[in-house]
Amino acid sequence: MCYFEQTLWSCGYWKWGNFRQQCNKEYRTGETCGLKLVYETNFIPSPCKICEQITKKDRRLRKMAEDIERWSREGNRKATIEKTQADMLGVRGQIQELWRGHEEKQRSI
Ligand SMILES: [Zn+2]
Repeated sequence: MCYFEQTLWSCGYWKWGNFRQQCNKEYRTGETCGLKLVYETNFIPSPCKICEQITKKDRRLRKMAEDIERWSREGNRKATIEKTQADMLGVRGQIQELWRGHEEKQRSI
């Protein structure tokens, strides 16, 4: 078991940081035995990069939904609306993908 720093974000996402201390099962210098233990946790009081990306994409979705609403009122924008609806599906897929990665990481400790 070797000790590593850990970074933890307020949303629950975390990652391993620098290698800190070797255990006595491992004699090779600079090598680690493969089992990671937390040496120290650096808490970051803000959401992680994935959450930031999700928030950004969410904002984009909302903007597109507003545009579609406005365009349907204006009329004559059928093609634009259809294109934007397709874009929204794409962005929703990306958000789901990001969430999946985020949740897996939260479960894995
Ligand atoms: Zn997060």
